[in-house]
Amino acid sequence: MSTNDELKKETTNGTKPVLADSGFVSGCCKGEICSVCGEPATNKLEETIFYDDPNKMRHPLTAYVCREHFRMIVGGLG
Ligand SMILES: [Zn+2]
Repeated sequence: MSTNDELKKETTNGTKPVLADSGFVSGCCKGEICSVCGEPATNKLEETIFYDDPNKMRHPLTAYVCREHFRMIVGGLG
C-alpha cells in the first residue's frame, strides 16, 4: 500500500473522511524538500501580495512543503 492510499482513508474522528487527495505531485516538486520538516516536498505555497502592500512589485515569498504540512496550513483540504 502506498502512502497516498493511506492518506485517502484518513479520518479525523473515525467516522468522516476529510481528504480528497488525488495523490498528484508535480514534477516541479522533485528534488525539493519541505521547509518545515525536510521531507520530500509535495506542494509549493506562495504569498499573496495584497493591493495595499507598500512594495507591490516584489516577488511573493514561496515555500515548498510536504503533504502533511501543506494540509496543516490549508486546513486539511489539500
Ligand atoms: Zn513537512
